[in-house]
Amino acid sequence: KNLTVSQILDQAAEQRPDHEVLYDLFRRMTYCELQEEVEALAAALVRMGVRKGERIGVCLPNWHETAAIYLAVAKIGAIVVPFNTRYRSHEVAHIVQNAQTKVVFVCEEFAEHIGIDLLLPLVEHVVTVRFKRSEAADYAQLLLEGRGGTLPVVDIDPVEDVFCILYTSGTTGFPKGAMLTHQNVIYTAAQTVETLACGAEDVFLVPVPLFHVFGMISCFMSTLLSQARMVLQEKYKAVDALRLIEQERVTVHHAVPTMFILELNHPDFSTFNLSSLRTGIIAAAPCPAETIKQLREKMGLNICVSYGATETSAAVTFTLLDDEETNILETVGKGAFEAEIKIVNDQKETLEAGQVGEIVCRSLGVMKGYYQAPEQTHQALDTEGWYYTGDLGTLDQNGYLRIVGRKKEMIIRGGYNIYPREIEELLYRHPKIMEAAVVGLPDSVMGEIVCAAVRLRENAVATEEEMKSYLKQQLADYKVPNRIVFVDDLPLTASGKIQKGRLKDRLMETYE
Ligand code: ATP
Repeated sequence: KNLTVSQILDQAAEQRPDHEVLYDLFRRMTYCELQEEVEALAAALVRMGVRKGERIGVCLPNWHETAAIYLAVAKIGAIVVPFNTRYRSHEVAHIVQNAQTKVVFVCEEFAEHIGIDLLLPLVEHVVTVRFKRSEAADYAQLLLEGRGGTLPVVDIDPVEDVFCILYTSGTTGFPKGAMLTHQNVIYTAAQTVETLACGAEDVFLVPVPLFHVFGMISCFMSTLLSQARMVLQEKYKAVDALRLIEQERVTVHHAVPTMFILELNHPDFSTFNLSSLRTGIIAAAPCPAETIKQLREKMGLNICVSYGATETSAAVTFTLLDDEETNILETVGKGAFEAEIKIVNDQKETLEAGQVGEIVCRSLGVMKGYYQAPEQTHQALDTEGWYYTGDLGTLDQNGYLRIVGRKKEMIIRGGYNIYPREIEELLYRHPKIMEAAVVGLPDSVMGEIVCAAVRLRENAVATEEEMKSYLKQQLADYKVPNRIVFVDDLPLTASGKIQKGRLKDRLMETYE
């Protein structure tokens, strides 16, 4: 709890210098090599004038350079600001200005998308990685210049000093920068390591982006803390994930539900040898019970369900590996370590077991606040350190948390409250359905109506009536969607979550 991120690397590099830490399909690195690269880069950043507390933007895919930059920035007490690689000029300008980043590391694809010209006047230095531009500094060159350079002694307080500012993924609203301290991220990574009993012999697959809390903390920081190895996937593709699991003998597979669904449904699934898989976390979005069952039966994963958010440095709850079936399938587990969870009503009064209300939590993983946004920080965090998640759930007598849905996603149809999650769970159980998402669409009479977007399995054929009558048998009539729309794909965030806002817009454009 009282170590900084770079002390975790120092420990690993000292204890296991020759152990492989990562493979990114381009390069394999040992702990010792990673540390050398981190030190050279840290020295180069100091030479560029970067000081403790300054913000450094990173817009890169899951490359070894990304890992090295995060650690180099942490070493000199500066703050990592990872960018979602899907962001375009509008979001980039917002973040660069909000975080006042001094340096930004970019890859070619990102530079092309946003136009490097937009970035150059906004920051002091742009550093290109794996490509060159005359107006910008170059990563490889910086490494050469930094080798053997001296590093100033920087006093970093793990409790107070911020390691990164993570902008929330934007499934709702405009990105806000959650400030996570060294302690926040190490504490949460330690929970993952302990819950899944990870050690140096483990191999983590990193299919989720390192700019998101799931990739950065549950995957990357947990790897460092376990002194294990990670396999970085640059662009997620189910077939590549399956191939890498076989080739690299992956033992820990974390992913969002959509990724697992794609892997399980891949036509070549059964041709891969996945016997090395041991465990992993399914999280970040509602986890259909059907998917969890299949992960256990078909993939041999002793999967753990977890719940958390950017603002809590990822996981707050975990199901335990030896939990009973009901807990694994229906709940997201219990608060890990000393994490406290309560359910409150709109007046912030604590509710009893079984009652639906907002999920509120407090733990050493909860962020320090939103960067440069006192108003939003005040809304999300109270003076006692409780974080208001905006999610709805219930706690049972034994402390297991059930997610009911997001407060903002609740549909009110003619005065009835409808939680999309409940309908989605049923749709996922239908043998012809691969993916489903339910949203509310505005309606002049009912206020809102219920619309389900459904993606069928390959070669499956179904009608709207068939799906409706399937749901009618199991649900109160007011919950049965007014419309069921068949789609070829669902809009996803870069971290693989279904973007309900965009889906809603799409459905409104097409069907209004
Ligand atoms: P934004 O903050 O912009 O809306 P986001 O909420 O998706 O984006 P994240 O921090 O990535 O940002 O996601 C956290 C949210 O993901 C949680 O608040 C919750 O709604 C959802 N979530 C996480 N884990 C689970 C889970 N196991 N089951 C259901 N929902 C989950």
